[in-house]
Amino acid sequence: MDLKLSNKVFIVSGGAKGIGEAIVLELAKEGAIPVIVDRSVEAAANLENQIKSEGKKCLTIIQELGREDACKGIVDQTISTYGRIDGIVNNAGVNDSVGLSSGSPASFRQSLTINLTHYYDLVHYAVDHLKSSKGAIVNISSKTALTGQGGTSGYAASKGAQLALTREWAVELAPFGIRVNAIIPAEVLTPLYKSWLATFENAEEKLEGIVSKIPLGQRMTKSEEIGAMTVFLLSERSAHTTGQWHFIDGGY
Ligand code: NAP
Repeated sequence: MDLKLSNKVFIVSGGAKGIGEAIVLELAKEGAIPVIVDRSVEAAANLENQIKSEGKKCLTIIQELGREDACKGIVDQTISTYGRIDGIVNNAGVNDSVGLSSGSPASFRQSLTINLTHYYDLVHYAVDHLKSSKGAIVNISSKTALTGQGGTSGYAASKGAQLALTREWAVELAPFGIRVNAIIPAEVLTPLYKSWLATFENAEEKLEGIVSKIPLGQRMTKSEEIGAMTVFLLSERSAHTTGQWHFIDGGY
């Protein structure tokens, strides 16, 4: 299937590791130009080298998302480099364990800043460019928005808001031909997931317990499987799909 993404420009937040990295690699494979936005300097540099060594294009922007004006700068730099933006993948986030008892009003607000507000900010600053390109948006949410997890109010609230924004933006942007979809992963063995697992004394047992409950194949979802679905949703091959929440989780 030709996804017709050649030379199209996509900003991927948190694009240097885990799910974001898989999305970036899939975009590059399709001949698109991923813009890797991340704070991890080394991981982003390694990824950029890998992509360029295969003769593909990409741009790295090192930025701490959540800082004021960060997202405006990302959009400005992308436009000054390529003159267009064809899509945004809002992906950067951290399950930061800001719970009711373990957190505080200040840490809850901070959690919304690192997990939610940059999803809005990036699209806010890019929206006129997306109108010009009839672009697409994919928000990476989480099952915690729908199941809860316990002890992570800021993250769960952010993930739920991302699903609401997916529907809200799909309505606002439909007249401009811009599609907006969400992906809901559950269990993907990324660096973030590994650091969450490491908080348990019996991490291996915990992982086995989780995996045994995943109906399709009793295995974790691969980052590449999230990447493939995301890139399909960014492409015109999914031209009549908007406002949807896609569960990529082995039937979990
Ligand atoms: P990951 O392995 O930590 O990769 C995310 C990347 O984004 C890292 O390079 C991280 O840098 C960067 N990043 C995070 N916050 C940032 C910020 N404020 N500014 C700049 N860069 C930032 O995470 P992942 O597991 O791939 O998760 C990606 C998305 O999927 C998240 O939205 C997460 O909620 C969602 N998700 C994941 C799972 C799962 O099972 N893994 C399940 C449900 C939902 P650092 O390494 O420095 O933090």
